[in-house]
Amino acid sequence: MKLAVVGTGYVGLVSGVCLAAKGHTVLCVDKNPAIVATLNAGRPHIFETGLPELLASVLASGRFSATQDLYAALDQVDLVIVAVGTPSKDGIIDLTYVDGVAREIGAYIKNHDRHISVVVKSTVVPGTTDTVVRIAIEQASGKAFSAFGLGMNPEFLREGDAISDFSAPDRIVLGYEDPQTLERLEELYAPWDVDKLRVNTRTAEMVKYANNALLATQISAVNEIANLAAALGGIDVMDVVAGVQMDKRWNPILPDGARAKPHILTYLVPGCGFGGSCFPKDVQALRSQGMQNGLPMRMLNAILDVNEGQPEQVIDILRRETGGLTGRRVLVLGLAFKPGTDDVRESASLKIVARLADEGAVIVAHDPIATENFRNALNGAAAQTVFCERWQDEVAAADIVIVATAWPEYQALSGLDFSGKILFDARRAFMPSQFQGTKYLSIGRQMGTP
Ligand code: NAD
Repeated sequence: MKLAVVGTGYVGLVSGVCLAAKGHTVLCVDKNPAIVATLNAGRPHIFETGLPELLASVLASGRFSATQDLYAALDQVDLVIVAVGTPSKDGIIDLTYVDGVAREIGAYIKNHDRHISVVVKSTVVPGTTDTVVRIAIEQASGKAFSAFGLGMNPEFLREGDAISDFSAPDRIVLGYEDPQTLERLEELYAPWDVDKLRVNTRTAEMVKYANNALLATQISAVNEIANLAAALGGIDVMDVVAGVQMDKRWNPILPDGARAKPHILTYLVPGCGFGGSCFPKDVQALRSQGMQNGLPMRMLNAILDVNEGQPEQVIDILRRETGGLTGRRVLVLGLAFKPGTDDVRESASLKIVARLADEGAVIVAHDPIATENFRNALNGAAAQTVFCERWQDEVAAADIVIVATAWPEYQALSGLDFSGKILFDARRAFMPSQFQGTKYLSIGRQMGTP
């Protein structure tokens, strides 16, 4: 089928390219002319493994193109997916872009009698599609809901694994308000033989938030336990986690005696906090929605509270161990919010570098691909930070090395000489035994713990 995708960021671009790869014809719409030009030239504006190759192939097939012209795209399709950003403003979801696109589509519907299904893929709080989006289209078109269709199809892709997640998802949630939209969604996802959940749009919206809130819960819970283990001393929280992971409810024992090792176990590793464009924003948005509805939202408050304090743990521990960070040369390794992406939104490194700057440290920072985004996001502290291309050349001069993102290339640290230095493993990317004789510090383990 032929469809339009509005908003060509991480989600819109990956969705558009993968849908085209499955045989659909996709018109990606973005208001940013630079994005449209680079995409049509075959250059993705975001980093994602496999994306350049897939973009080249769908462009060559003629089934993918980018445009700024929404109305020209709508002339050719009966299904439009909305994938614009939904940033957080003071912890509340900002629906300006979603509302803006809905009104533009409504203005088109005003002058066209074809039934078009508008499917929201952006993450929006429960009730958005069947209220905010419906009302915006009704007002701009002057037509009642039955003249157009509404759907909600949340996206679960993870940056860094976006192409494989979209190509081989674990589930597809088809939220819909009218049978015609469900039919179109069924056709769109017919090439995928996976579990599909068919629900109304507000349930689809809630699935996405519940999913992220429950994953974020695991991270904050293990971080709180890690902080206590470190405060008590004599406990390495990774040993505790190993013991917990022997519980067959977390890690089932297979018939051959091996462990299933489900991916959820990776959420039980302590660190300097979760970041990215989804977890912090989505948990905050759900909390705000709950509070607006008169609920105290105690759990979500706690998840966010613990997370906000985690980067400060790094500074606290370092200050305690060094007696002060003023003038210390600190090499920060990893600026993206996780390995495999150039996204620095809500990255723990933003807070760590800003706090190191407050403390008067001399900061040298490295990331394999996210340096430019980080520099732009850092604002004030950028002036105090030197960005390096080769971290290996900086280790010798550093007093402290912090691993803030577990990029695989930093594993080479374990072969280097750390005499007289501190290594802070803020992601528990190493075994303490790899740094015998080094002042190895980390979350969830007091210095001196065997
Ligand atoms: P993004 O900021 O990377 O991209 C949004 C794009 O929309 C931008 O290119 C912008 O130019 C474009 N845009 C804004 N208004 C427009 C308009 N009126 N017309 C055309 N284009 C317009 O955002 P993203 O990371 O792709 O996220 C999009 C949505 O998907 C958000 O709601 C996000 O929460 C959700 N989501 C993101 C991820 C992720 O990993 N990034 C995963 C799942 C869901």
